[in-house]
Amino acid sequence: GFTSLRNGLSRVSRAPAGYRAIHRRYDVIVVGGGHAGTEAAAAAARVGAETLLVTQKIDTIGALSCNPSLGGVGKGQLVREVDALDGLCGRAGDRAGIHFSVLNRSKGPAVWGPRAQLDRQRYRDFIQAELLATPRLEVMEGSVEELLVEEERPGRHRVTGIRLAGHAPPLEASSVILTTGTFLSGFLFLGQTSSPGGRIGDPPSSSGLSRTLKETLGLQVGRLRTGTPPRILKDSVDLTLATLHPPDQHPTPFSFLNTHTHCKPEEQLPCYLVRTTPGVDRVVMESLDDNSHIQEDTKGPRYCPSIESRVLRFPGRSHQVWLEPEGMTSNLLYPQGLSMTMPPDMQLRLLRQIPALHRVEISTPGYGVQYDYVCPTQLCPSLQVKTTQGLFLAGQINGTTGYEEAAAQGLWAGVNAARSALAAPLLALSRTESYIGVLIDDLVTRGVTEPYRMFTSRAEFRTLLRPDNADLRLTLKGFEEVGCVSAQRYNEAVRVKEGLEEAFSTLGSLSRSPRDWRKTLETSTKGVLRIVSFSRATELLQYNDITYDDLAAALPESLAPFLEFSQRLKIEAVYRPHCELQKKEIQRIEREEGMYLSPDLDYLSLPVSLSNEVREILDRVRPTTLGAATRLPGMTPAAIVHLLNFVTQKN
Ligand code: FAD
Repeated sequence: GFTSLRNGLSRVSRAPAGYRAIHRRYDVIVVGGGHAGTEAAAAAARVGAETLLVTQKIDTIGALSCNPSLGGVGKGQLVREVDALDGLCGRAGDRAGIHFSVLNRSKGPAVWGPRAQLDRQRYRDFIQAELLATPRLEVMEGSVEELLVEEERPGRHRVTGIRLAGHAPPLEASSVILTTGTFLSGFLFLGQTSSPGGRIGDPPSSSGLSRTLKETLGLQVGRLRTGTPPRILKDSVDLTLATLHPPDQHPTPFSFLNTHTHCKPEEQLPCYLVRTTPGVDRVVMESLDDNSHIQEDTKGPRYCPSIESRVLRFPGRSHQVWLEPEGMTSNLLYPQGLSMTMPPDMQLRLLRQIPALHRVEISTPGYGVQYDYVCPTQLCPSLQVKTTQGLFLAGQINGTTGYEEAAAQGLWAGVNAARSALAAPLLALSRTESYIGVLIDDLVTRGVTEPYRMFTSRAEFRTLLRPDNADLRLTLKGFEEVGCVSAQRYNEAVRVKEGLEEAFSTLGSLSRSPRDWRKTLETSTKGVLRIVSFSRATELLQYNDITYDDLAAALPESLAPFLEFSQRLKIEAVYRPHCELQKKEIQRIEREEGMYLSPDLDYLSLPVSLSNEVREILDRVRPTTLGAATRLPGMTPAAIVHLLNFVTQKN
């Protein structure tokens, strides 16, 4: 692990005891070594900034505070995009994964969700080793006590550095990225007791940091809460009473750089499914008086709610509980779906109401945490605070929940903090090119009222933003325009892009009559071709039952050279016609940016497919051009297409 590696490395230090910063001045300082902070630090260094990562405990860098898993529907897309921009979490997932499965397989590949259960220790080790090997990046253990800022003019500040707890001298930086997760004024809850903390075993972030944000910078700060389930001992669970859930036989790696995962397919561990019983509801109801976290009206996560909130919202319903392995050799299971904050003795009683858990033992009780978040509408799409030059925020501090959402923001904040320090223009990702763009746009234009997590339904152009094509969307741009992608990854993405294009033009050139196709493909497609009426191979590939391998088996001279892309070609063939239409719509919006919008347009009569929120804001602001309308908060590309159609029909 890191601790042993640290001894030989001068680029790592502790502060204040033994404090010795190699530099006193950095381009970028990142505060926090969670999922946002590690991606931010690595990205800033990749872009070319001299970067320092300061975090409370070096050993917890890359720690998975809650669930031992990565990816899923919407979240898996974010992991693929972070990887396409050369981030860490995809490769870390491939190294640490012990159970891979692609969720949503029964739906189209655009909404498939690559996901893996992780070995916690392997994940941490990988992230720590990667950071140590990153040029221009130093890592320091210490707690940041204060943010140093200068007032440029009333209401406008510039960040100048940080001050650590203890008596260490201040450290200067052109940009600072705060990624303090659940630690900002963090409070932990268990039963009737509450105590300051950011995560079990870790103190909260100092109140000085919160004070600078609120009082000096005048930022609006809110409060959110979340919770985690108890961890249970696997050998105390009767797994014969649980439903076994095997992993995929052929694990799909997260990273575009990997053709296979570290864990061999046959070595993967299963998950298990159990369900809550009426006894669980009973214990929840009895525990309410002893459960101060649940009595709070601070907003908790709607999409990953505690068992207490689920029982209160849906009384009498049986809920799924997944028993997930915590590591390859760990005796711990993570009961996903049983996040709870009642007293430990009641937690044990509750768990034992589930037949497979009737003799279960708990290793660590579940608990809740409440923390400050900064209302993200105060940020630009670069994740810089609008009123403070050089200050960037990423991760749970912006009101999101989840490792993937944190990693995605961290990477983008790292890119822009480095660019700001190196005097390069700041960049934004659009909703039409990435889920990262959707995430950041949602945060900065709409804000949050509860912990925000990603879903595929948040992306209007999700057939374009697929997990399979994140490299084509982002790796080339990441190298050519952003500067955060290595030449090695770029060359690989170029090779893939050229290979796909060549394969597509070959497919497009293979044309026969449906009768001839039937003859050619008779054996490989097992009679499916009776229904075929197309003449080009690209169209043939759109049929559900025809794979690229079928075509290549029949026409090996033309198609066998592209077999390595067979799954991607199949997906691309299915989506290409629809994506072409979507791209045309996007180009139309860009072309019509300057279109005049009459001040007396009746926005309230816009089609019902537009949300009330969008109609109301258009009615109130009355933008003068289509371009101005696109920049209104909450305005999505899909809404703009509706608006454009509405205005052109009127004219
Ligand atoms: P974190 O991973 O929290 O990292 C913050 C880092 O900042 C830590 O390393 C900390 O030591 C460091 N730090 C903080 N302050 C300072 C300072 N002043 N100086 C130096 N270092 C500092 N996610 C879900 O998706 N679903 C859930 O149900 C869920 N439940 C959770 C329950 C609990 C109890 C906790 C603690 C987290 C939960 N999470 C859940 C959230 C998940 O852990 C986070 O979304 C994710 O870790 C956020 O990443 P981050 O980088 O923003 O912050």
